Amino acid sequence: MRILLVEDDERTAEAVSASLSAAGYRVDHETNGEEAWFRGDTEPYAAVVLDLGLPGMDGMSILRRWRQAGQTFPVLILTARGSWSERVEGIDAGADDYLPKPFQIQELLARLRAILRRSAGQADPVLTIGPVALDTRQMRVTVDGMPIPLSPQEYRLLSYLMHHADRVVSQLELTEQLYAQDFERDSNAVEVLVGRVRRKLGVDLIQTRRGFGYLIETPGS
Ligand code: CA
Repeated sequence: MRILLVEDDERTAEAVSASLSAAGYRVDHETNGEEAWFRGDTEPYAAVVLDLGLPGMDGMSILRRWRQAGQTFPVLILTARGSWSERVEGIDAGADDYLPKPFQIQELLARLRAILRRSAGQADPVLTIGPVALDTRQMRVTVDGMPIPLSPQEYRLLSYLMHHADRVVSQLELTEQLYAQDFERDSNAVEVLVGRVRRKLGVDLIQTRRGFGYLIETPGS
């Protein structure tokens, strides 16, 4: 899943970026407010981690502009400790959650998982569709309770499709979510990856909609 991290403090940004990558997210980092606003407005992000004090444009203005433009991705804002007015203002501006600085990375990861689940309409940290259960805390997948060893990229693919169940996800969207660099974006790569995940799961979960993309349907939908 692709995350936009907007933070002008280099040390914080490096630490957060490294932890998010280690947790399996694809991270784009921006330090300038204006550029961050543009990226969030034009590229598909699963969620945004947004600092408020930024050069170019402040975080609160960025958030308001995104929401006014109809951007619905979940946003976690980083606020100054004890500044209740910032928290109130942020939530009114459309933030989904906030985290006071300084913070523990583990708390940031937990809050991020929670807003991603809520935006997918799931309150439980384990997403279950038919026999397949995906544990977003441990990044583990089971089929009928049996653990399935997936590579990080295979896990990301399955996780993205399960978080967007009952909607056809195009190959382009998956490519953008899974591959950081343009040169890695080969249209066959996603197809090969889907094939591998299907084989490992051994159940009929990921459907192909020829010419449109891939779909996971929840039973009874
Ligand atoms: Ca700052």
